[in-house]
Amino acid sequence: MDIKNNKEAWQSGVSKNITFIVTKDCQLACKYCYLVGKNINERMSFETAKKAIDYILSREDEFNEESVIWDFIGGEPFLEIDLIDKICDYLKMEMYRLNHHWFNSYRFSFSTNGINYHEKKVQKFIEKNHEHLSIGITIDGTELKHDLNRVYKNSGKGSYKDVVRNIPLWIEQFPFAGTKVTISSADIPYIKESVLHLYSLGIKEVNINVVFEDIWKDGDDKLFENQLIELADEIIDKEYYKDYACSFYSEHIGKPMDIKLENQNWCGAGKMLSVDAAGNFYPCTRFAQYSLREKKAWIIGNVNDGIDKNKLRPFLTLDRLTQSPQKCIDCEVASGCAWCQGENYDAAETPTIYQRAVAICKMHKARVRANNYYWNKLFRKLELEGEREEYEKNKPNEPLKIC
Ligand code: SF4
Ligand code: SF4
Repeated sequence: MDIKNNKEAWQSGVSKNITFIVTKDCQLACKYCYLVGKNINERMSFETAKKAIDYILSREDEFNEESVIWDFIGGEPFLEIDLIDKICDYLKMEMYRLNHHWFNSYRFSFSTNGINYHEKKVQKFIEKNHEHLSIGITIDGTELKHDLNRVYKNSGKGSYKDVVRNIPLWIEQFPFAGTKVTISSADIPYIKESVLHLYSLGIKEVNINVVFEDIWKDGDDKLFENQLIELADEIIDKEYYKDYACSFYSEHIGKPMDIKLENQNWCGAGKMLSVDAAGNFYPCTRFAQYSLREKKAWIIGNVNDGIDKNKLRPFLTLDRLTQSPQKCIDCEVASGCAWCQGENYDAAETPTIYQRAVAICKMHKARVRANNYYWNKLFRKLELEGEREEYEKNKPNEPLKIC
């Protein structure tokens, strides 16, 4: 079963996302990385992972979502491939032994820098678990753009060449996998060429987000809009839209939202669960200490004592209304304007998750303007050529909401 065929069925159900922070080490020191506390010491032991798994799998009534995504992150997760292999074997055996409702309704998910993707142990793991895997390799675009940020921590050298050599193998194994690109202020001039470069490598789905942190300079929004308009022209004129997708352009963003009808929180923080090497549980990895600049970790329990529901309580009542400033409630282009609960917490004046960080405001508005240009131009072309109906039937999946 490949991911594309499985995609619809999977997404129609509600899945629990459980993340193991297996290591806080990485070969790279990306300049935009939000993980401010990376280190080589905090590696998860199998005993800690096992305790977390035993706790979760023995509470089927509390963890009652239809399916589960077991997510492995770092640092770089594949640095711990032996541990991951052991954890995944244990998970499969336990879900089978317990006749758990997640048996056969699970996926192992990885976000990797791709550097050791080709190594024997990683490949053996992929072969063994292929039908339950989703793996995203992060590559930021052209060599110049990628190496601007994604550099080795020891030498400061760019990592592009070591990642790109593994892309053909990855695409052969996961033809419908997408990549995730993160845009910061210095990256804006390279957006167009980067997306086109990723398409030329055979990557069909490019998911992009701008960072949530307050780093945007004067004029960045205009530059951003221009890049997106130039990219729109290329995608439409060269007809990439038939087979390729880019998450910048979405038919569903840039509209006002009626708070009475659409009041849900943006992300799943609090409904997800993360565990780290110390055995602590978090509502999302962004609440672990290594992800926070200003605030203390938000620990909601641990593998020995379980989840403290009182610590989780504030997350259960999060919605758009309770954390957004009035300008966002009244905003004409509110749909698709994202926030990150972890960044909200880190950037807030007090230790609260109820203060929405709006540093991306002008970038979202720029995106909406370019997005309107894209769809007007595309639909005009399709109507003129009598291809609108055909396009609607066969259009590529809209990229996922990413964070
Ligand atoms: S941050 Fe800005 S663009 Fe986003 S909803 Fe609020 S006012 Fe609108
Ligand atoms: S948006 Fe932030 S807090 Fe929400 S799930 Fe993503 S990383 Fe976690």
